Amino acid sequence: MNVLVLNCGSSSIKYQLLEMGENPEVRAKGIVERIGLKIGCLAHKNDRNEKFETETEVPNHTVGIKLVLEALLDKEHGVIESLDEIKAVGHRVAHGGEFFTQSVLLNDDAIAKIEACCDLAPLHNPAHLLGMQAIKDVLPTVPQTAVFDTSFHQSMPASSYMYPLPYSLYEQHKIRRYGFHGTSHKFVAEKACGILGWNIEEKKIITCHLGNGASITAIKNGKSVDTSMGFTPVEGLMMGTRTGDLDLGALLFIMEKENLSVSEANSFINKKCGTNGFSEISSDMRDLEAEAEKGNERAELTLQMYAHRVKKYIGSYAAVMDGVDLIIMTGGIGENSYDTRERVLGDMSYLGLKFNKELNHGLKGKDEVLSMPDSKVTVMSISTNEELVIAMDTVKIVFGK
Ligand code: ADP
Repeated sequence: MNVLVLNCGSSSIKYQLLEMGENPEVRAKGIVERIGLKIGCLAHKNDRNEKFETETEVPNHTVGIKLVLEALLDKEHGVIESLDEIKAVGHRVAHGGEFFTQSVLLNDDAIAKIEACCDLAPLHNPAHLLGMQAIKDVLPTVPQTAVFDTSFHQSMPASSYMYPLPYSLYEQHKIRRYGFHGTSHKFVAEKACGILGWNIEEKKIITCHLGNGASITAIKNGKSVDTSMGFTPVEGLMMGTRTGDLDLGALLFIMEKENLSVSEANSFINKKCGTNGFSEISSDMRDLEAEAEKGNERAELTLQMYAHRVKKYIGSYAAVMDGVDLIIMTGGIGENSYDTRERVLGDMSYLGLKFNKELNHGLKGKDEVLSMPDSKVTVMSISTNEELVIAMDTVKIVFGK
């Protein structure tokens, strides 16, 4: 059974067609970009590793979706013969506010609630809604689902998710911590427990999703009890271009000194800071590691700061849960950067953690235990796959499997 997974942004549509079954496979994937500009483009790749690119006008999301479907149907580089072969569509949705604690079938009620969250995710939710409407226009009988970045974290207790602001701001504007990357944190925790033969409901787990965006979650008895991203994805760890935790007073000071408007300040903390802004070298860990290796002191300091901040969160989450059984590293950096893993986990003797440095060295993108057999805390590197989670949830919701 084929499920189409969509991540619709304001000017782009990322897609994957997955064949679901015992061993799910990606049949095709790609991206439509520059929607709404003069010339848009599509880049498509199928499971025979054939690539196809085209440039054409893509005035809106409906035209973009039609372009995706044409690519999937194409005689040469397509993978299906008829649109009937697409049995369901799953959408990644950035924000479900306090409405959604799990993935849902899209109906009028769900759409109205996603609309009500547009204020909380003004760049993302309106674009997701355009994608949902576009599918409704083009594939009116195909069931659609929404899988939220936020829903897994709805289990956080109020003591984790409230900010020390006047309570009326929560009541009026729903200002609170929501957390993101929920699909990934849940997926890797469940996958690791599956590999270890553990019952997730009896365990304390810390999941470190370290990609371009990065967040860390404390999962107790299968439920998120705290996470580092907050009202927006800017809070928490140092990221590729986002600040992560920062003294609010410093931001106000910068705004005054640099004469930044609110929207300029927003763009500053999201796009101009983090590892890229601080190092003035790159947001890519590989570049920073290569420069540090050559003796570049700023690159080295960036790597130290990055690891220091992950370490601090691990320590605080171990404290919050009164211990930790398993620490998981995932995301592009967590799965591939042995250097970051060692900097973060190499000296956590206070937790009784014995890190296997040799095994860690050279391990890339594989699911593996990275702690010694007698370590009190197990460490694993687990590859995440958010599209697969969306497709699996979609199959479960639509077909009950
Ligand atoms: P996104 O948040 O965009 O999904 P990813 O999870 O794909 O990002 O992670 C992207 C990051 O992973 C890159 O910026 C890069 O820093 C890092 N990365 C990927 N491969 C390696 C590697 N071999 N060594 C170190 N870092 C890597």
